Amino acid sequence: MSLSNSRNQFLAFESHNQDNIQYERKGGIFVTTCVCVSFILCAVLVATLVGIIVYFITYFKLSQSVSTNDFWNEAEPFGHNGPPSPDLRLPSAVVPSFYRLKLRTDIDNSNFRGEVYITIKAKSNVKEIILHSKGLSINDKAKLTEQTYEEIQTLHRKKREEPANDTISENPTTATTATANTLNVTIKEVDAQKPTNETFVPSSNEHNETTHIKLNTNVSNETANDAPANETATPTVAIPIPNNTIYTTVTNRNTHVTHSSARNIQITSITQGSGDRLIIKLASTLKPDVDYILELNFEGKISDAMTGFYKSTYTSTDGQIRSLGVTQFEPTSARAAFPCFDEPAFKAMFEISIAHPSNLTALSNMKVSSQEDIPDSPGWRWTHFDRSVNMSTYLVAYIVSDFKSVETTYVSKDNITKPIRVWTRPELIHKASYALTITPKLLEYYEEVFGLPYVLDKLDLIAIPDFSSGAMENWGLITFRETTLLFDPAASGPRDKQNVAIDVAHELAHQWFGNLVTMTWWTDLWLNEGFATYIEYVGVDHIEPEWNMFESFSIDKMDLLRSDSLKNTSPVSRKVIDASEISQKFDEISYTKGANLIRMLNHTVSQELFHKGLLIYLNQWTYSNAEENDLWAAMSTAVESDSNLRQLSVVEFMNSWTRQAGYPVVNVDRNYETGDVMFEQKLFTSSDDPYQAMIDQLWHIPISYTWPSQAKSAKPQSAKPELWLKERSVIAHLPVDRTQALYVNVDAIGYYRVNYDTKNWELLSAALKSGHFKSPITKAQLIDDAFNLAKFSHMNYSQALGLTTCVIEGEDSKVVWELLLNNMGFIKYSIRSTSGYVYFQDYMKILLQKQLERLNYGLSKPKDDNEAFLIENLVMWECEVEAPRCLKWAQDEFTNWSTQGDLSNNSIPVYLRSLVYNMAIKKGGRRAFEFFWDAFQNATDPNVKTLIINNLPATRDPALITLLLERSLNELPNQYAPTVWGVEPTVGTRIAQDFLIKNFDAIYNKFTSMDEFTFPSILNGAFGFIISEDELNKLKSFALQHKDKLLPVSQTLQKIMDTAKLRIEWMKRHAPTVNAWFKDYVTNHKKSLSEAPNTTTPSTTTASTGNSTQTSIGNEIGTANSNTGNVQNSTDAAPEINGTTTTSPEI
Ligand SMILES: [Zn+2]
Repeated sequence: MSLSNSRNQFLAFESHNQDNIQYERKGGIFVTTCVCVSFILCAVLVATLVGIIVYFITYFKLSQSVSTNDFWNEAEPFGHNGPPSPDLRLPSAVVPSFYRLKLRTDIDNSNFRGEVYITIKAKSNVKEIILHSKGLSINDKAKLTEQTYEEIQTLHRKKREEPANDTISENPTTATTATANTLNVTIKEVDAQKPTNETFVPSSNEHNETTHIKLNTNVSNETANDAPANETATPTVAIPIPNNTIYTTVTNRNTHVTHSSARNIQITSITQGSGDRLIIKLASTLKPDVDYILELNFEGKISDAMTGFYKSTYTSTDGQIRSLGVTQFEPTSARAAFPCFDEPAFKAMFEISIAHPSNLTALSNMKVSSQEDIPDSPGWRWTHFDRSVNMSTYLVAYIVSDFKSVETTYVSKDNITKPIRVWTRPELIHKASYALTITPKLLEYYEEVFGLPYVLDKLDLIAIPDFSSGAMENWGLITFRETTLLFDPAASGPRDKQNVAIDVAHELAHQWFGNLVTMTWWTDLWLNEGFATYIEYVGVDHIEPEWNMFESFSIDKMDLLRSDSLKNTSPVSRKVIDASEISQKFDEISYTKGANLIRMLNHTVSQELFHKGLLIYLNQWTYSNAEENDLWAAMSTAVESDSNLRQLSVVEFMNSWTRQAGYPVVNVDRNYETGDVMFEQKLFTSSDDPYQAMIDQLWHIPISYTWPSQAKSAKPQSAKPELWLKERSVIAHLPVDRTQALYVNVDAIGYYRVNYDTKNWELLSAALKSGHFKSPITKAQLIDDAFNLAKFSHMNYSQALGLTTCVIEGEDSKVVWELLLNNMGFIKYSIRSTSGYVYFQDYMKILLQKQLERLNYGLSKPKDDNEAFLIENLVMWECEVEAPRCLKWAQDEFTNWSTQGDLSNNSIPVYLRSLVYNMAIKKGGRRAFEFFWDAFQNATDPNVKTLIINNLPATRDPALITLLLERSLNELPNQYAPTVWGVEPTVGTRIAQDFLIKNFDAIYNKFTSMDEFTFPSILNGAFGFIISEDELNKLKSFALQHKDKLLPVSQTLQKIMDTAKLRIEWMKRHAPTVNAWFKDYVTNHKKSLSEAPNTTTPSTTTASTGNSTQTSIGNEIGTANSNTGNVQNSTDAAPEINGTTTTSPEI
């Protein structure tokens, strides 16, 4: 899944699972009466003592709990503590292997009913079956049958797509009896010990040979019951899956099954337990290694939420409201659509049939196998889908809609031609071509990188009008927001195009990482998301190399380093104690930090060995589940052959990063006389009072270094580690001249910051300003490290701010500017209400001036997409600091467009539209607000709607802010409702805080009913920019009042709290210094100007190319950073800073 741009990130903390321990009673002892009496007396005494002790301990704990349970208490994080919930996991005694799911959808009446036949097997003697069901009505027709087959013969096979005759029976419970029957089965059995590419995808044109498979184990049949045989029905047969066996079955009518018995097992009760558990009690015990079929009939509501099986709507060009039925199951909503074992490790095959109106199209993970009209329901039909490969429940998907598609094909690695279709509502079909163009390119590239083909027979990508996250990787049927799949070059800009490329690349990467190999449990969600995030950059860099995607990767990393320094940040790999915590793991720690750690490993072991390890891992765990140490084991195998890496323990190295929270700063202290350099690691934290356990952490840090110089002694730059810092400190002798600057963590590949002694910082600053550092990433990294070291008092602020002046004379790298401006964003929001803010504004104008002049203030057509990104950022800042030119230009642009009648005739350059809209709403009062509100209501284009709704909360009118918040509760479609909570500090946030406190129940009910991800963004909107003690106290009493309801979003609250404390402390400690520095600089600058005035006027040339934009002003700590930007390649390339080659690590 990819995160939506509007979703706020939240953090988690580590907790630990505890296995249940059970004792059995065996035997006894005999004692005399005397001993017995003495024993009793002793026992009474001991009991009394224990009672007294327990009383005092309990009393002590209770009195303590009053404070420790308050989340702002420094002693422990707010959230679930103690052992895991007893209902967190399903028992593993019963496992499913196959689901036959038949669903009748009624979108108009918002309900569905279905039957599911689940083939299960017990691992031990159990008398109950526990699976998941949420909000479903299970009727009393439940059945459980034991199925036994002795022999299956496949007489011959037919073409895979052969339409049936082979239609799946309306009622699959009408087939076999205890006598031999002919069933529709084709069996393809493959030895999993020798997985080959060919095993993953059966050829669609394959004519199978006659086979005769003798099964030693029992074989179950979905059709099992006591009903009489029906030769005309053509149900399929579920084959139990021997461990690690890969096979695919297709519907066919040429298999002969000998059926030895089918026995009903009496169900004594079905009850709904806590944790969405459906508990089925049985009259007799299930035997291990026998296959049973559980049949359940159920009904449910198609909700308007954006989770489970839900309804999405759109307005067609003729003004009609059209509906579609959509699924979103990750992480735990498959159980809301059909009863199932809803945990990622319970992989099974699925065979799905959907009943729907004949004028609509049904899609699912697999290809359509056949369709049939439903005789007793005119106008309705069944669409039957092929049986799936082995997969997790959260990846199941089905959609019923009136959408249209465009189609292409590609030939996969295993030489099979596969269709790719992009689906959308009919009027947006012209926007589908970009996704359709890049998808085959990405698939082909990924097949090369992963060494395995895309395994399914087809791939559908579909744009959903109402969708919560950015996209979802359902196997073979990927769902997207409309704005993350559709792109129209005539109406949208490079930012929109990049968003599409990134989301498509991310979800396609999941087809291998996540779908083919899945994490065993949500603890290792980061394996899915970290890898997909890393690979998305690799993929986009391949198809759109001019974007320099790995520059964006570095920006995202540096932005994350800011929030990962909070006191209650969480490790990448973290235990889940309560089910409510699962959704909190979909945060930037799992995504961006996960991606960075994987990239760090790649650069440590070399591209070649990393790739080798990747292939070992994927081949070993295909169609199965894995944990992080399985990946490290594969990497260890890969690096064994390299003598330089023999001493590297991949497991210890990576566990030190994935299982510990936060990250270190490496302090570099040079002895300029001897050439010795001491490297020392320490936790880098925003807190004055960090947890002792975190202070004690040590990481295995790969250290790369170089010294930039024009001299011959300059060292070639390489990101390969040259030494390791595993202990607290290490001293190394480096042949660096005392006059040269030492630069550590080349290309910012390592996930850590670096601080240097004062002299080396001076040398670095001089090298930076004299142009010795060519790489934009190096410049951005030094500025970012300096700013954040100063923020937490590890460095003098004037030194950090002094570095910013290196861009004044014409820096043109968008990475450098973006990082610098992101850091300035923190200062901007913090000092906004101080008198120093005016000097800050003036300083920013000085900083921006030269570059804006070079870019003609954005009025000329940008030479490429990167320049368009730079322009939108710089001009946005120019307006934000209230430069008169910018404000007047923005106002003129808005007036010209809004007064000329036809709004579709928009002459504002697309990459500057967001800025113009924002300024118009900010400065234009009610008139402008209503203009945009109407434009939002009337627009049908999702990009136009999104652009407007993103900017509406910029209004500064308190009444209009309240109006927007009210509309989020009743008027706005679900997808857009959370967006308007992105109000601006301080006017907007204070209103949002009061509105949230006053209307808590309504707001909580509205947004938690949408899905489990949305409510945190509401909290962040209201409380994410706290700057004063009174706001902090308001948050504390709010959280205490609603503690029970807020527990599931504890990590968001904790992060908000940490950020608030950081900002309040920063204001006390640094605001005066920072303000004084700006004042001094501006005053001196004005003096020098008065001696040599310099004025420039922009050219009047107006840009006319289209590029739409959404720019954020600075990247505040504690806010989400979307997946946009730039970066540098990694899976397939050595880092290119200064264009030198990498060398072998000295490990
Ligand atoms: Zn994802």
